[in-house]
Amino acid sequence: MNAEELRKDFPILSERINGHRLVYLDNAATSQKPRQVIDAIRRYYEHDNSNVHRGVHTLGSRATEAYEAARERVARFIRAKSPQEIVFTRGTTESLNMIAHGYARAKLREGDEIVLPPSEHHSNLIPWQQAARATGATLRYLPLQPDGTIRLEDVEAAVTDRTKIVAIAHVSNVLGTVNPVREIAEIAHRHGAIIVVDGAQSVPHMPTDVVEMDCDFLAFSGHKMLGPTGIGVLYGKAELLAEMEPTYFGGEMIDVVDLYESTWKEAPWKFEGGTPIIAGAIGLAAAMDYLEKVGLAEIERHDAALAAKAVERLAEIDGVTIFGPPPGQSRAGLVTFNLGRVHPHDLATVLDARGVAIRAGHHCAQPLMRLFNVPATARASFYLYNTEEDVDALVDAVLEAKEFFGHAIG
Ligand code: PMP
Repeated sequence: MNAEELRKDFPILSERINGHRLVYLDNAATSQKPRQVIDAIRRYYEHDNSNVHRGVHTLGSRATEAYEAARERVARFIRAKSPQEIVFTRGTTESLNMIAHGYARAKLREGDEIVLPPSEHHSNLIPWQQAARATGATLRYLPLQPDGTIRLEDVEAAVTDRTKIVAIAHVSNVLGTVNPVREIAEIAHRHGAIIVVDGAQSVPHMPTDVVEMDCDFLAFSGHKMLGPTGIGVLYGKAELLAEMEPTYFGGEMIDVVDLYESTWKEAPWKFEGGTPIIAGAIGLAAAMDYLEKVGLAEIERHDAALAAKAVERLAEIDGVTIFGPPPGQSRAGLVTFNLGRVHPHDLATVLDARGVAIRAGHHCAQPLMRLFNVPATARASFYLYNTEEDVDALVDAVLEAKEFFGHAIG
């Protein structure tokens, strides 16, 4: 894999930021888009644009074919058994809310438990709080090790026959830890619970096989994997999608509508009320073509190697605190850190002046920030078009920031 070559496919990477080469290290928030994805969307609007599933005309058929082909593309990408297990949504957040509202609320009873780590992104936490509040179920949190990992024995202890749902990110967007979801799924299933996997940070960066993982639901976003914003995926095992209720209603999703009652289409179409995100799905399919051509296993190695190098070099800087696994321990392609008492927003501003784009804030994980006892952190996250030169630029910029904020370190 040649990141330098791949960079040429991403027009935005030639932007100059404050007179510097753009060093884009905010990929966990959203990724950049290659020409191939931008072109696929443009081609659709220039040649095939129409509404789907109803037009009895040529463009209607072309748009429908392209949209349903995108569904098949997604199914192949995550090795789902059937395209009917793929629901198009607006993103991870919407997918998780649909599970919590359309599936979980009908299943949960008072005394039931939902097991999850305290490090979850707000979108894999608040929907469960809401479902618990509505049903009388309770949330039960897994303990985190100081390096952010989760021990299987703690999962064994927390998951009981009261557990109905285990909700967990495959890769933490703050810690960069890779959770053992396959083993956790096995524990959940042994107790008759289902497992909901937040794949927002894993599906873009590593090979995914939902059958092998044996997850019951998987949620992810197109925009973090070279696709456009506004498109995401809810994968669900066929039998669970059949049981799950739609959470919004209207055109396209119905079978027969009467004045007082209506019936729905089968899954996945019953979940896609209204005109679907046609161009988004087509853009996502093009993104998946691109990622598979490069190779997900290669991308995983590449991102993790850059993050490992960044962790190692940042940890050598006096005053830098690394969150999550320490240097030398396995982590996904992101690193979260702080520089002394410098507020991460100030750090990110200084880095931006040098063209280095990182994230600063609570990363939609306020309970985890409270566990760390910090208001916010800085985060650099890598993707296939990042290079060792980008790691150097990050480290150099942090060193410069250290000079600049000297009084607040130590
Ligand atoms: N879960 C995780 C782990 C994430 O990193 C994100 C995005 N930051 C989300 C969920 C939410 O994704 P989206 O905003 O695309 O719905």
